[in-house]
Amino acid sequence: EFLLYYQPQINLETNQMIGAEALIRWNHPERGLISPSEFIGLAEETGLIIQIGEWVIRTACQQMMKWQADGLPRLRIAINISAKQFTQTNLPDLLRKVLHETGLEPKYLEIEITESMTMDVESAISTLLELKEIGVLISIDDFGTGYSSLNYLKRFPIDKLKIDQSFIRECTSDINDQTIIKTVILMAHFLKLQVIAEGVETKGQANFLLQQGCLEAQGYYFSQPLPVEDFEEKLIQQM
Ligand code: C2E
Ligand code: CA
Ligand code: CA
Repeated sequence: EFLLYYQPQINLETNQMIGAEALIRWNHPERGLISPSEFIGLAEETGLIIQIGEWVIRTACQQMMKWQADGLPRLRIAINISAKQFTQTNLPDLLRKVLHETGLEPKYLEIEITESMTMDVESAISTLLELKEIGVLISIDDFGTGYSSLNYLKRFPIDKLKIDQSFIRECTSDINDQTIIKTVILMAHFLKLQVIAEGVETKGQANFLLQQGCLEAQGYYFSQPLPVEDFEEKLIQQM
């Protein structure tokens, strides 16, 4: 009953799709589509998230390979990793296995973690270094909403910051949000990290981000998360 939806990630200068984020849905026989915010927490508590997470990684990689094999544009897929999956399982081993099984090149896979998963600093660094060795990208999701010290940013081998949607929502009117966004973008540039904004819903927000030097974005303004067939159509349009 699980499904993956795919939300396009867009280059703001060219308006081309440059990647996608895989977002899980539960297609319940009676209740219809259930959003992850309603079941991920429970899945974490029960430990089921480990099996679900493995299914997500495998399904997303298989789907990307299928699109590549069909000759469609090659995009990177970003996958959300849960805290348990990051700290209590051997994520590098799982990724190596799935990449080997599916034949997907690691550069097409991006792992989204959150700041809170990096609390155990030494163990997080060693996992992240192993992931870097595999060749996948690492991004920090919901950036700016956790409690991690900026000091970690220079110690963790990460590639990308994803500015949380709470800062984007009022970024055309709220001076504080504007200041925070500008600062995060500058900091990312100085640290040689990529930066993407999520939850972009209006042209005004997209313009503001581009003016500040944020070149990538994702949100309803460009596209909702799409089921496989609809995302495939977008890929075909982009050929
Ligand atoms: P997230 O990783 O921060 O994902 C972004 C959420 O914002 C998604 O909600 C997406 O549909 C929604 N969104 C995208 N564009 C916009 C926009 O322009 N405006 C607004 N208001 N919302 C937008 P979704 O799909 O309901 O997922 C909720 C959360 O569930 C995700 O937050 C993520 O933390 C978690 N999640 C989703 N899929 C997975 C998964 O496969 N594994 C794990 N561990 N967690 C997942
Ligand atoms: Ca995410
Ligand atoms: Ca997020």
